[in-house]
Amino acid sequence: MGTIQIMDEVLSNKIAAGEVVERPASVVKELVENAIDAGSSIIEVFLEEAGLTSIQVVDNGNGMDEEDALKSFSRHATSKIEKEQDLFRIRTLGFRGEALASIASVSKVTLKTSDGTNSGIELYLEGGHVKEQKPTAFRKGTDMTVAQLFYNTPARLKYLKTIQTELGHTIDLINRLALGYPAISFRLVHNGQTLLHTNGRGNVQQVLAAIYGAHNAKKMIAFEGQSNDYKVYGFATLPEVTRASKNYMSLFVNGRWVKHYLVQKAIVDAYHTYLPIGRYPIVVLYIEGDPQLTDVNVHPAKHQVRLSKEPELLRLVEDTVRSAVRGEIHVPLVERKEKPVKLPSEQMNIWKQPSFDTKKMDDLVQRLNEEKSVIRETVYEKPIETAASFERPQPAIEEPVEIDNSPEEEVALPSVPVAPPEPKKEPFPQLEVVGQIHGTYIVAQMEDGFYLIDQHAAQERIKYEYFREKVGEVNPNERQALLLPLTFHYSADEALILKEHAQALEQVGVFLEEFGYGSFIVREHPAWFPKGFEQEIIEELIEQVLGTKKADVKKLREEAAIMMSCKKSIKANYYLTKEQMVRLLDDLRAADNPFTCPHGRPVLVHFSTYEVEKMFKRVM
Ligand code: ADP
Ligand code: MG
Repeated sequence: MGTIQIMDEVLSNKIAAGEVVERPASVVKELVENAIDAGSSIIEVFLEEAGLTSIQVVDNGNGMDEEDALKSFSRHATSKIEKEQDLFRIRTLGFRGEALASIASVSKVTLKTSDGTNSGIELYLEGGHVKEQKPTAFRKGTDMTVAQLFYNTPARLKYLKTIQTELGHTIDLINRLALGYPAISFRLVHNGQTLLHTNGRGNVQQVLAAIYGAHNAKKMIAFEGQSNDYKVYGFATLPEVTRASKNYMSLFVNGRWVKHYLVQKAIVDAYHTYLPIGRYPIVVLYIEGDPQLTDVNVHPAKHQVRLSKEPELLRLVEDTVRSAVRGEIHVPLVERKEKPVKLPSEQMNIWKQPSFDTKKMDDLVQRLNEEKSVIRETVYEKPIETAASFERPQPAIEEPVEIDNSPEEEVALPSVPVAPPEPKKEPFPQLEVVGQIHGTYIVAQMEDGFYLIDQHAAQERIKYEYFREKVGEVNPNERQALLLPLTFHYSADEALILKEHAQALEQVGVFLEEFGYGSFIVREHPAWFPKGFEQEIIEELIEQVLGTKKADVKKLREEAAIMMSCKKSIKANYYLTKEQMVRLLDDLRAADNPFTCPHGRPVLVHFSTYEVEKMFKRVM
């Protein structure tokens, strides 16, 4: 007797399901794409528990008659490919004809559909088997409910992440589909709450507003360009609106959402020097070309695309986006207030003096850099070794010096915590201020030589330690109400991440109140927030959470303190009075680690008397 058996169809569907149906979002994708293929203009997606309990997709498309409804669940049932060469001219989304069969094999499906010629039909399937079939009154269109996904394949359930993660995948997907089909009205509802609703009027900017908030959509500029083989168009944010992730650049090739690293890179290159490092624009880019040039069948999930004449396309994308973005920028983005610092003449440059022992300095700088990583982790407990050892200084108890670049503005500079610092391994030298050079470095001396202190780095360190302590103990009574509440707008998936991490954000002083989906209001903040920077700081902290999608409170505090310390520290080319310099050094001496700034750069460097004497050949 032969041992080869034809595999039971339901079993083979279950195996195929492993490939097609990975998570709730993949079911939503298949169902919504079918609805699109059926010519729908309104598609509604209702999820319960991120789709694990139930996924319902309702459309107003062509629907199916009884025969097609029954056929649609068998493998390779498709109305979309007639001949093999059609594969090369795919314009519709589905074409493998196995999605419904696969989904039905791992869930309990209820289908109601009608093609409008007869009253509708209702089918109920369990594990791919039709259990019930009856006529039903249904308008033209389809209503498909997939319940208890993976109920018969518990191993797959194990791979699913949290509800929030699974929901996040679906939100991403619907956002992309809404951008891909602005003429279709999409609604996504989760546990009764509407997360996204687009109006289907074909206006991409309105879709962008629904997803990213009107506030951000207003800051997006339209672009359009054409080459021999391709047409590109879309919207891109002005460089002032950025995100910490590349996920906000959505690409569509002939209506299909794709991932394409090089096209993304071409977009980022278009912004060259206009974006801060690690920041990306929000962009929607539509690419149109002969379907023969675009091979979308590279990957089963169909997200990858192989493009012919790629260099031509990349150039087109970069040039088009660049001219649109730059055309809109009238004011230089980075305003340099400082005058350029003149370099000292060659003879005066002690660094170039052949007899000067720069090695020691280099070693110090290198050590500091090596320490940097350690310091970040040990939260700056480890002082940097310096050449000399000094007596342990008294902690300064005075208020730190208040210095500001804009004299007309009132700056409330915080006072340094007066509690005696932990005993330091390396005490800070008791220095006498001599003066200041280039409005940037303080020169100070003691018997064994002199020091150059970077005033900006010094103040950053002082403020960092102040804010680190403040952020470490956000006190609800220390809040200050804002005269005008701040509002923030985020996309549904971002809002989800923020809600998930609301507690962590509160622990660094960001009190978000939700109002309407995707929008948050901030009415108050801790009293010690750097004045005039409240919005910027809250935004940056939110971005921090969105960028990493997690909120390690310890890291967030660390980032918050660094961020705040940078905000109003004295910059280069700012002249200080002697009294201000003395106070700055006193405050620095009281710091836990006065030797490096929060970014790990040295605050001060030492020139020993011996080195100076050697330079002048007083000693050999
Ligand atoms: P494919 O989309 O690759 O053809 P599917 O398994 O996703 O395969 O769907 C099988 C068939 O069922 C489709 O070709 C289509 O004829 C029909 N169908 C599925 N969903 C719908 C819908 N929402 N409206 C109308 N027809 C549908
Ligand atoms: Mg399909």
